[in-house]
Amino acid sequence: MMRPLDGNVLAGPVSGLFAFDATSTRAQCDGCGDVAMIAQAMVYGEPMGYVVRCRLCDSVLLVVVERARHRLLSMPGVRWLRVDTQDDGPAGP
Ligand SMILES: [Zn+2]
Repeated sequence: MMRPLDGNVLAGPVSGLFAFDATSTRAQCDGCGDVAMIAQAMVYGEPMGYVVRCRLCDSVLLVVVERARHRLLSMPGVRWLRVDTQDDGPAGP
């Protein structure tokens, strides 16, 4: 059985899609309602891409597929994704 990596492995591939560090964003799992930073998720990855699963209920939060000329991001299990625009420390969800 493949061991999960931590969410920090997504810093390169996902940050290339957005102008923010995706690992420091918070997301709510659509399966169980857990709110956590993407870096806290369980990541199964490579060689085709990454499957990011909820740390509590194992629902698929994100899928990142890397190809030679593009990247594809799917967020089937994310209810919402919060991107902080200022580093004010922890705040609500
Ligand atoms: Zn969950």
